[in-house]
Amino acid sequence: NRTDPFDFVLFGATGDLSRRKLLPAFLRRFMAQEFDDDARIICVARSNLTTEEFRDSVISSLREFAPEATQDKDTLHRFLGLLTYIYLDATKQEANWDGLRALLPESPRARVFYLATAPSLFSVLCQSLAEQGLVTPTSRVVLEKPIGTSLATAQAINTGVGRYFPEESIYRIDHYLGKEGVQNILALRFANPALEMLWSSSAIDHVQITAAETVGVEDRGSYYDEAGALRDMMQNHLLQILCMVAMDAPASLRSDDLRNEKMKVLNALRPMTPDMVRQNVIRGQYVSGTLKNRIVPGYTEDLNTGRSSSTETFVAIRTKIRTARWGNTPFYLRTGKRLATKTTEIVLQFRPQVWPIFTNMPSPGRLVIRIAPHEELSFVMAVRDPAAGSFRVQNAKLDMAYKNVFSLAYQDSYERLLLDAVRGDPALFIRRDEVDASWRWVEPILTSWQQALTPLEPYPAGSWGPPSARALLARDGAMWHEDMLP
Ligand code: NAP
Repeated sequence: NRTDPFDFVLFGATGDLSRRKLLPAFLRRFMAQEFDDDARIICVARSNLTTEEFRDSVISSLREFAPEATQDKDTLHRFLGLLTYIYLDATKQEANWDGLRALLPESPRARVFYLATAPSLFSVLCQSLAEQGLVTPTSRVVLEKPIGTSLATAQAINTGVGRYFPEESIYRIDHYLGKEGVQNILALRFANPALEMLWSSSAIDHVQITAAETVGVEDRGSYYDEAGALRDMMQNHLLQILCMVAMDAPASLRSDDLRNEKMKVLNALRPMTPDMVRQNVIRGQYVSGTLKNRIVPGYTEDLNTGRSSSTETFVAIRTKIRTARWGNTPFYLRTGKRLATKTTEIVLQFRPQVWPIFTNMPSPGRLVIRIAPHEELSFVMAVRDPAAGSFRVQNAKLDMAYKNVFSLAYQDSYERLLLDAVRGDPALFIRRDEVDASWRWVEPILTSWQQALTPLEPYPAGSWGPPSARALLARDGAMWHEDMLP
């Protein structure tokens, strides 16, 4: 599975994402011998560093974020040898493009420009790359999220980048799509016809998709305060998971077949009118509370700006998908910071028995697909309680933790995505129309919030969000997973 030699240009190489995720992911794939010593990884940022200084700084990041991969000194040394650093300020007229060109000799190799910089630089960087003659027929550009902060800004970025790169060469990252558990939704559904037969409103009462974090804003407060949970998580990651859960079978696993099916889901989402937002969207912000027996500060204290903020750190949405498959099944999506437990999970709650013949009946069964912190599948179903003297039914779980069955090839989704970009496989990247459709659905929520139509509700750190998030489901006679009986 070794890739052909490639040239990879990493803009933003001194940044947080590069240090924590991208360079560690590269090292792990190098250790797994997925690429050779003839790959070139050219690291670009504004800081005035020599390659030696940059490599020294990378060593400490690798030790921190991929410690196991730094044990083999020889491999680490060879990996560092692939990194060249060049400083270049993309906003300056006199930027060192000649220096970059000198590092990129003409070649038929795949050439990947990875933009791990602020999105405001995407268009200008692409323009410069094109004007400097660096965009070859084998070039592609990888864009980090967020693509814009609204439909208009997303369209401006996509149009700006699209002037210099054709759509098939633009790889928009959503690293959730690279997660094993998200990938496995396809296998679970389309390799198990029996399960797929249940996969509709006729058997499924509702679907919950949760991405809960226990961390606060950490040191990314200035970014997060501008973005909020809706832009940071919902518009991209949660909607992508929703697409994987709700889409029809694609004709093949080819990128456009997959993306066409995802687009149908996005287009079928019930539009968010102001009334819909008022009734179906909960917006919260954490205040100080107790998490894992520790008192943690609230959001504004975490920001430490001395000002209050109206940015949401929690959002829960109830929606429907207007298709024959899903028309009667609500989908509940929620995400938040400083919640009780770190988990990313999908819960498919089955419908109750219509004519119960047992005197006791536990809650209806469900399928839980856990994506983080560990990949797990559990199927909760009713069984006869063998310990009871009389005929009693109770719920039991069929559990499968991936780590007990498989050894996972990737520790982090970026490992897969980086090399997919190198190999030219866009299946796990987002097409332009998906970005537009997601923003089109999310934007009325933002507009309603700007008009203060939805209150910003406080919730204590360590809880599961504002009480109204619970009420959102109670209205339908449903409850969030953590409230369900076993
Ligand atoms: P960051 O820590 O602020 O790093 C920004 C990088 O861009 C630095 O290497 C910086 O170089 C470089 N840069 C800034 N202005 C430049 C210019 N004019 N010319 C050339 N290089 C310039 O940001 P980050 O957190 O790594 O995030 C990068 C991108 O990834 C953003 O779009 C962000 O939204 C996205 N993202 C980040 C994360 C994350 O966990 N960090 C997660 C998902 C998505 P100097 O340091 O030398 O100034």
